[in-house]
Amino acid sequence: MKVLYDVIIAGAGVIGSALARELSRYQLSVCVLEKENDVAMGATKANSGIIHGGFDPEPGTLKAKMNVEGVPLIYKAAKELNVPFRQCGSIVCAFNEQEANTIKDLYDRGVINGVEGMKLLNKEEVLAIEPALSANICLALLIPSAGIICPYKLAIAAMGNAMDNGATLIRNFNIDKVIRNDGAFEITSVDGKTVEGKFFINCAGAHSDVIADKAGDKFFTIIPRNGEYLLLDKTEGATVHHTIFQVPGPEGKGVLVSPTVDGNLLTGPTAEVSCSPDANIITQAGISKVVNQARKSVPGVNFRQTITSFAGIRASEKNSDFIIKASDSVAGLIHVAAIDSPGLTSCFAIAQYVINILKDNNLTLTEKEYWNPVRENTEAFREMSYEQKDEYIKEHPEYGKIVCRCEGVSEGEILDAIKRNPRALDVDSVKRRTRAGMGRCQAGFCMPYVMELIARENNVALEEVTKKGNGSYIVTGRI
Ligand SMILES: Cc1cc2nc3c(=O)[nH]c(=O)nc-3n(C[C@H](O)[C@H](O)[C@H](O)COP(=O)(O)OP(=O)(O)OC[C@H]3O[C@@H](n4cnc5c(N)ncnc54)[C@H](O)[C@@H]3O)c2cc1C
Repeated sequence: MKVLYDVIIAGAGVIGSALARELSRYQLSVCVLEKENDVAMGATKANSGIIHGGFDPEPGTLKAKMNVEGVPLIYKAAKELNVPFRQCGSIVCAFNEQEANTIKDLYDRGVINGVEGMKLLNKEEVLAIEPALSANICLALLIPSAGIICPYKLAIAAMGNAMDNGATLIRNFNIDKVIRNDGAFEITSVDGKTVEGKFFINCAGAHSDVIADKAGDKFFTIIPRNGEYLLLDKTEGATVHHTIFQVPGPEGKGVLVSPTVDGNLLTGPTAEVSCSPDANIITQAGISKVVNQARKSVPGVNFRQTITSFAGIRASEKNSDFIIKASDSVAGLIHVAAIDSPGLTSCFAIAQYVINILKDNNLTLTEKEYWNPVRENTEAFREMSYEQKDEYIKEHPEYGKIVCRCEGVSEGEILDAIKRNPRALDVDSVKRRTRAGMGRCQAGFCMPYVMELIARENNVALEEVTKKGNGSYIVTGRI
């Protein structure tokens, strides 16, 4: 028998995942359709992970509203979901008089947007708190409410919590057709699977214009913009203590230098219009730009300690604002599109905004008698003292076996990632949940054993295990 879901969400990025979690509070059937083998495979996987204070968006825009409302909500949700974050604050640096004037304008804009606690710092003041900054700085803006978080861990945790509270995630469902008949949407995947729902919410990131088109309501075009990064080893993680920005320009917030919650140093991103929503590529020109721009703010960044590069695609639109609205022409269709930066920061504010749109469109929202906002701490073992770990290992010996030596990840943590909602089904999904393979050797040592664990727990042959779904097989057979 076919299920008629109350709400179907297209896309399991941080927006679809945050929305699924917020909807799981209510007596509703919620289904998330994702074309990849895991959640957080689009922009959510590859961004700066900054909780932006909200000084940058143009006052009066949805971006400004969602950003500022989103900051306390993301901190609250991260605590409930046990996702590591740090409210480290950010600093915007000016290197000449013109930029100093822009910084004063940003301060005023932040005040209008409702950002609290900002402070202008002169050269001596900023160098006192960040000695690694360039001596060429003439003025800086400190935003204490800003922070850092792991974006994909947040999406995984939000989706896991939504699933624990009753939501359904269907992976490898590449939406092909969206047909509305008799008050319901019939949604069909490229390989012929079908689901039905009363409301259809388009959270498809850089593909949201394609989904709008399939649903018969394309009134915007996504301009994909590639952002390239270099990630440095943990030896460099304390180079700076705040997220260091330069003055934003037409291309966006520019190249930053920032600690990450996992203790690495992140530099990037670039901002180049891309030929495709999937072309997240690394280029020689992009890397040179990241290196040169990062050194402008922090001259001593030690790029010899780079351990990897990556790139993410922003889902931008010509009006530079988020598009969050019910369709004017297709009843029950809601677009959550053009969610470029600060979409991560805004995700829970956006979720609440969408819930209000659903209410306005006559969806009955009755809270469940019991809804659990808390997700068990997946980092609990890492946070234990040596004595506590010893005790724990006596009862759970799999935690005494280290699989990833670079990051010190145990077999117990990997098994937990494979078994817990949303289950890690491939090697990269284990990596995003546990950090196995994220260290200096980039999975050179641990991958074969991680593959064995995935094969064993899912009862499939080793040859069936993929790097990231969609036919990305790693081994072909025994020789
Ligand atoms: C370089 C860069 C830096 C950024 N830095 C920051 C930052 O520091 N702070 C901040 O707040 N924001 C930042 N952002 C913005 C933030 O990353 C995004 O706003 C956020 O991740 C968007 O989430 P999403 O769920 O809308 O999109 P996505 O994460 O792209 O998710 C969309 C999902 O839809 C799925 N999908 C697409 N088509 C289909 C289909 N046909 N069928 C089924 N599923 C489909 C995709 O596979 C994907 O999983 C940055 C973005 C980039 C690219």
